[in-house]
Amino acid sequence: MARAVLPAAVWAEAIAFAEGLFDELDRRTRGPDGVTRASWGEGEQAAHDLVAAAARDLGLTVSTDAAGNLFMTMAGRDAEAPAWFTGSHLDSVPCGGNFDGAAGVVAGLAALHAFRAHGLVPARNVTVLATRGEEGSSWFSGPHKSHFGGRAALGQLSAAEMDAARSVVDGRSLAQMIADAGFDPKGAAEAPSIRPEMAHGFVELHIEQGPVLDRRAVPVGIVSGIRGTRRARDARAEGAHAHSGAVPREYRRDALLAAAAFAGALEARWEDWLAQGRDMVATLGRFSTDPAQASLTKVPGLVTFTLDIRSEDEALLRDAEDFVVAAARDIGAQRGVAIDLGRIDRAAPATMSPDLRGRLRDLAAELGIPAIDLASGGGHDAANFALAGIPTAIIFVRNPNGSHHPDEDMPIADFGQGARLLAALLAD
Ligand SMILES: [Zn+2]
Repeated sequence: MARAVLPAAVWAEAIAFAEGLFDELDRRTRGPDGVTRASWGEGEQAAHDLVAAAARDLGLTVSTDAAGNLFMTMAGRDAEAPAWFTGSHLDSVPCGGNFDGAAGVVAGLAALHAFRAHGLVPARNVTVLATRGEEGSSWFSGPHKSHFGGRAALGQLSAAEMDAARSVVDGRSLAQMIADAGFDPKGAAEAPSIRPEMAHGFVELHIEQGPVLDRRAVPVGIVSGIRGTRRARDARAEGAHAHSGAVPREYRRDALLAAAAFAGALEARWEDWLAQGRDMVATLGRFSTDPAQASLTKVPGLVTFTLDIRSEDEALLRDAEDFVVAAARDIGAQRGVAIDLGRIDRAAPATMSPDLRGRLRDLAAELGIPAIDLASGGGHDAANFALAGIPTAIIFVRNPNGSHHPDEDMPIADFGQGARLLAALLAD
């Protein structure tokens, strides 16, 4: 199929427009320690106001749903056909950077800026979506599943969850905050503003949160899947405290060496799986003896730890869970230590659409944009769209300093490559 090729001058103008938006976002929401756009707070609202005004200037149809998500639509040749949705969130973590989230919204607007300048009418409606409250884990305590705005748009947010989630800033419930921001929490409860049959697909451009593109010197990544998880938040190894000089090795029940052996066994198995080409990361983020009891001269009798295993392959997650349960039992038995992983929380991986990934790969080749496949370790709004049955893809853009950090440093040239790839997809 012949692709609509956007002339370089048109594209240069679109990138200048995007750069202007990034600069203004930074100016409005950066404090001394970084960019802060609290979910349903002042910074997020400032970003929504800026982006909505830019969309109106582009002649887009602008509306909000009951939760305050922002929809900015360019009509296509077939306005009845299922639409493209593209976008991301405009909130940030406290003292974060300028690009996590915002890059996806600005990329969608840059694509439509270029379409308009070139007189290109897309095949179907294109809606740029700016969600609310994707960084909910940073801003809300209480039992909740975060990604609030995107899930509200998909009808996945309940009234109970909006009452249970509490602002870490001032204790208000999420329902109250949505109301205080001028929106309608009752109307947002389990009432979708996007139903799967309305969507041809959802594509999110996002900065990469890890170092892979930077290390491999590639500007753009096409995400293969969003890793699912197996997490043990309250694991413990319980042996017996003993005198470090008086008790011979064979009589010890050393909790730390047992937990360390468990960690070593997991790492060895992880290496095997990687050698087989399977996707996995594993982290024991907390690992400690009991500070009240531990001492230089005591065999440790108790170690508490956490376990976070991620993979885009559900079968591997099941294998990994079986492995850690068996390793805990066997290593514990050999050493007279009870290794109890506690409750294991499970989240399924989100699969990206093979069709959309293929089209993005073809378009990248056609446009001469260097791109590689990679898994996403972090969660994104896109995961919820994929799990709702909407064909979904993510374009990652190289970002040397990591995300959730004041020094996020996406080069504008790399953003341009990612946004050009997005535009080529949205034109059809
Ligand atoms: Zn993000």
